[in-house]
Amino acid sequence: MMAGTIGSSMGVLIFLLDTVFSLSIKPVAKGLLQLVNTIAGGTISIVGNMLVLIARVMGLLNEGRLLRVEEKNILQEVFQASLDPKKITIAYFPFWHKYFFTLHNTIYSPHKDQSIPPHLLVHESVHVWQYHHEGTKYLAEALLAQIQYGIKNIPGNAYDWTAELSRGKTDWGNFNKEAAAKLIEEIWKEGEACILSNEAEPVEVENGCGVFFRMSAEDYNRKPRFISKRNHQDYTDLAIESMLMLRSKK
Ligand SMILES: [Zn+2]
Repeated sequence: MMAGTIGSSMGVLIFLLDTVFSLSIKPVAKGLLQLVNTIAGGTISIVGNMLVLIARVMGLLNEGRLLRVEEKNILQEVFQASLDPKKITIAYFPFWHKYFFTLHNTIYSPHKDQSIPPHLLVHESVHVWQYHHEGTKYLAEALLAQIQYGIKNIPGNAYDWTAELSRGKTDWGNFNKEAAAKLIEEIWKEGEACILSNEAEPVEVENGCGVFFRMSAEDYNRKPRFISKRNHQDYTDLAIESMLMLRSKK
């Protein structure tokens, strides 16, 4: 509830700040927005921690589990040294049976057996990465995006990274926090490895399950490719830049 109230106020604030943006005093508005996000993110973080603590004391929430070897391997391939999979835990969240969500280093699963499909593990781990490298303001920024663009499964929602491109954000680092996580998830799911002969045309294409992240620059016969199922356009360059940006943080 508290997060919802903060979220609504933030929604009004972002509307006001958007208006300020249109008045061409961008640096001031940007600074203000950063400050608001930092305060709101910190508040959500504290309230979230308190709720988790209360639920644990009441025996409603368990400590969760560490990642399994195969899950750690997936994250190692995607994030390399920019995220330590040993810090992540998965816990069953008994109050909400629809969505996965992440608070700090814990990914909450709606499943009693604390399971998580690999592509969602990648998505939620991007939020852990955001927490580690950008602080708790990622919480406010993710929530704001959900309020501003919606979470309904329609084009232009908070998760639609192609909509971020249309809004003029060409850099993965500037995408809203949900769109940023969704792009990495979709590269993991849909990215391809093209095995090349001497001709330009690939002789074989491997796809899915993180193959895009398993190629190295020395792999001259295999080239990464990412054609999005959203609009069948080739976003290989964006995918490579985003992957490198993700991995560049230590
Ligand atoms: Zn997310």
